[in-house]
Amino acid sequence: MKFNAVLDNLKTYEAGKPIELVVREYGIDAKDIIKLASNENPRGCSPLVQEAVCREASKMNLYPDDSMYELKEKLAKRFNVKDTNIAIGAGSDQIISFGVHAKANKNNKVLMAHTTFAMYEIYARQTGTTILKTKSDQHNLDEFLEIYNAHDDIAVIFLCLPNNPLGECLDRKDVYAFLDQIDSETLVIIDGAYQEYGAFKDKNKEIKPQDVIEKYPNVLYLGTFSKAYGLGGMRCGYGIAREEIIQPLLKLRAPFNITTLTLKAAIVALDDEKFVQNSLKENFEQMKLYEAFAQELGFDFIESFTNFITLSFDDSKNSSEISEKLLKKGIIIRNLGAYGMNAIRVTIGTPEQNARFMKEFKDIYLDNLVS
Ligand SMILES: *Cc1c(COP(=O)(O)O)cnc(C)c1O
Repeated sequence: MKFNAVLDNLKTYEAGKPIELVVREYGIDAKDIIKLASNENPRGCSPLVQEAVCREASKMNLYPDDSMYELKEKLAKRFNVKDTNIAIGAGSDQIISFGVHAKANKNNKVLMAHTTFAMYEIYARQTGTTILKTKSDQHNLDEFLEIYNAHDDIAVIFLCLPNNPLGECLDRKDVYAFLDQIDSETLVIIDGAYQEYGAFKDKNKEIKPQDVIEKYPNVLYLGTFSKAYGLGGMRCGYGIAREEIIQPLLKLRAPFNITTLTLKAAIVALDDEKFVQNSLKENFEQMKLYEAFAQELGFDFIESFTNFITLSFDDSKNSSEISEKLLKKGIIIRNLGAYGMNAIRVTIGTPEQNARFMKEFKDIYLDNLVS
């Protein structure tokens, strides 16, 4: 059977390996496996959320409130915007998809950083659009602007702030200076999946959705409950923009696109700011240990404003081999070989998980690897 031609060259997204798969393929006991591959919160989620979801379980037979009134109200209050400025998705992934499908098509182009969140390209390719990428791995706004000015048909620009999988983050003032030069017909998607982390570490990185809405008619800001809030398994994210952007996005939304339990979890998660703050604090304390570890062993890392760190190696080591050997010991991390880098991305885990990673990694690293 023939399918739409855009699907021919489209790769399926490869998620971080689940623990279940490592149990099956390597015969390692699930309790001995640590997953530092998908930037989940290693501390779990707020206990308040767990209790609320358990109480809500008896309502699984009911569709959720499709207006998502309570969640939108809470988010609106948190970010000082109106509820009409908010779209809720099954993960912010779904909002990325809405944004791209609302704007991109085979007659225009989508611009993104060379090494950034893989889903931008996948969603964009679904529309038959042309993908443009900057040359540098990390976000470089001069390069973005140069490409933008050289084309008159760029429909969507992605800025991942902070960026996954490298962890770097542009300063807010530079982002705004860039946005000032972009035509209001171009949709700029600011992916703030790690904004809680970036803003915690450095206030110069903080992007407030309220400011973005006030200043820019063409910017869609994205946030998620999957990272700092520890709710990756619940699938909830949001987009914040002017109503003229939110309205068309909502036309792409399936009814009841998040579950009754998800809705409850997200609402309650917003009540436990302390949980989030503690997670952020521990994250950066632990990250310092990774930086010291890299210096001790003599390899590079990228300064990170997220809950993961990218470790990169010289030619004497091979990130694929390191990743494979770690996996055999039950440690799942992300090899960045697929991005053309000799590097791995490690999610900052609990203190125990990080200690175990460093111990096993050191043994592997000090072995001569290149075969
Ligand atoms: C994790 C992540 C997301 C969103 O994930 P969801 O679980 O779909 O909310 C979006 N962008 C980036 C860069 C991410 O790392």
